[in-house]
Amino acid sequence: MTQWQKSDWRAKPRIQMPEYTDAAALSAAEARLTQYPPLVFAGEARRLKEQLGAASRGEAFLLQGGDCAESFEQFSADAIRDTFKVMLQMAMVLTYGAKVPVVKVGRMAGQFAKPRSAPTEVVNGVELPSYRGDIINDLAFTPESRIPNPDKMLQAYTQAAATLNLLRAFSTGGYADVHQVHAWTLGFTESEKAAKYREMANNISNALDFMKAAGIDSDRAHTLKTVDFYTSHESLLLEYEEALTRLDSTSGKWLAGSGHMLWIGDRTRQPDGAHVDFLSGVLNPIGLKCGPTMTSEDLKLLLAKLNPGNEAGRLTLIARFGAGKVADNLPRLIKTVEEEGANVVWVCDPMHGNTIKSATGYKTRPFESVLREVREFFAIHKAEGTIPGGVHFEMTGQDVTECTGGMRALSDENLSDRYHTACDPRLNASQSLELAFLVAEELSA
Ligand code: PEP
Ligand code: MN
Repeated sequence: MTQWQKSDWRAKPRIQMPEYTDAAALSAAEARLTQYPPLVFAGEARRLKEQLGAASRGEAFLLQGGDCAESFEQFSADAIRDTFKVMLQMAMVLTYGAKVPVVKVGRMAGQFAKPRSAPTEVVNGVELPSYRGDIINDLAFTPESRIPNPDKMLQAYTQAAATLNLLRAFSTGGYADVHQVHAWTLGFTESEKAAKYREMANNISNALDFMKAAGIDSDRAHTLKTVDFYTSHESLLLEYEEALTRLDSTSGKWLAGSGHMLWIGDRTRQPDGAHVDFLSGVLNPIGLKCGPTMTSEDLKLLLAKLNPGNEAGRLTLIARFGAGKVADNLPRLIKTVEEEGANVVWVCDPMHGNTIKSATGYKTRPFESVLREVREFFAIHKAEGTIPGGVHFEMTGQDVTECTGGMRALSDENLSDRYHTACDPRLNASQSLELAFLVAEELSA
């Protein structure tokens, strides 16, 4: 077999990718990106892989979350800070409740390209190509906006670099210090869960005071003052991914330099397709979305292609079946994994199988369905004797009204108040925290 090349995907069938019309502009953008520094480093990707390996054995738990689609227009330091803050809160709830280390991975700093259910969309009788994410075209409903523009890859890179810079500062510059556990509380999460969070934060503060009094100087403990925070996105736009792929001099392997963890979407996981080929060759930890149409035969082929060495932490299976459909699908895929003796991290994405259109015309997700799918995921792992290794959410620290339900009982009528997502509906800060408490309960049950 000849050695994998980062451009091999070009000879494979590809779907869900744009047809760029200006070949010269595309080559110029790719050439520039190829010269830019990678956004993440091989040592970091390896460290995340080790931590995911721990999650596969039940010794850690993955919390992956962020926007469905990052947006150029809504890019702001405050939005990044707030999502980071809610993820820290959620991680604290999980660590405290379930007594396991939490591996924190943002859908951030690169989550720009979107697969779509239809190539075009019709509004008031006008048909235009679908919006495919800010790295490809524009959301505005005009013919010019929907033309794929390769220069947008450069803007995506710049935004990703700035996002990562801020995340790195927050992770290590004092903001994520556990002594700040009270300060992460977001002003608007006034609910029963916010009170529960404060109570937990008091307990943690007391424990820290106790440690100090007992002579354990927690102020200086590095592990309490900083966090590891990783980035991830769907590896969909392969021109962008290839251009940021670099040879790691330490291992002689290829690193996808666009993010720590990359995943393959439920629509682009054909075993002989371009996306699977690309991710098969990079050293990063990778995710694979598994929806109801995933067959055991395909899963077997994918396990062999994506993790031939059966390395722990390399492959995360992200189950996204929809509430009420988990029992029909998860046990048969668990059986395949067990028969193959494959090392995987099982993760629950309770978002993508639960999208509906509200009575008021908005794409939404009922919080009750999200909770139900999480419960079903845990129940099945318990019944099968396998390990639930993490959760994957579309969420934001902003006080949006995109998913219905939750403690503050958002209704269909409320959706129009602050519906800001460029793509799928996200949990707001209060719904995210509520979900974290539920997951912590399930994990410690
Ligand atoms: C997503 O994660 O935004 C997405 C499109 O998911 P899936 O591939 O599971 O549909
Ligand atoms: Mn989505």
